[in-house]
Amino acid sequence: MLRSVHKPHIVCRRCKTRFTGAYCPYCGAENGSPSALRSRGGVLSGLLRFLFSLMILAAILFITFIILDYSASAEGDRHGAARAILDSARYAIPQSALDYYAEAKAQFLDRWIAAIKDFFITVFG
Ligand SMILES: [Zn+2]
Repeated sequence: MLRSVHKPHIVCRRCKTRFTGAYCPYCGAENGSPSALRSRGGVLSGLLRFLFSLMILAAILFITFIILDYSASAEGDRHGAARAILDSARYAIPQSALDYYAEAKAQFLDRWIAAIKDFFITVFG
């Protein structure tokens, strides 16, 4: 009992084992702190970070697609490059997704883009 007063127990963060000393006797973690390479939490958070960056990338691609779509249809022949990129992107995207996009565009996007354009015209002249 007295020993535990001098040497406080550490609760291992990986396996919740209570121990004294530098290393967990059950899983070997140093001072009960998770090892960056071996812990399951590290792998899981790494996976979450990976999925998060995939989602960010998908959102950026989607926004780029919308900007290209609107700049190509707004400026006509002056944005031939945007039109060409858009046409090649359309081959890579499934038809059902394009139909869904066209529907969303007619329902909200046209109004939102018009509102954003109005905002920029008001602010920047
Ligand atoms: Zn442990």
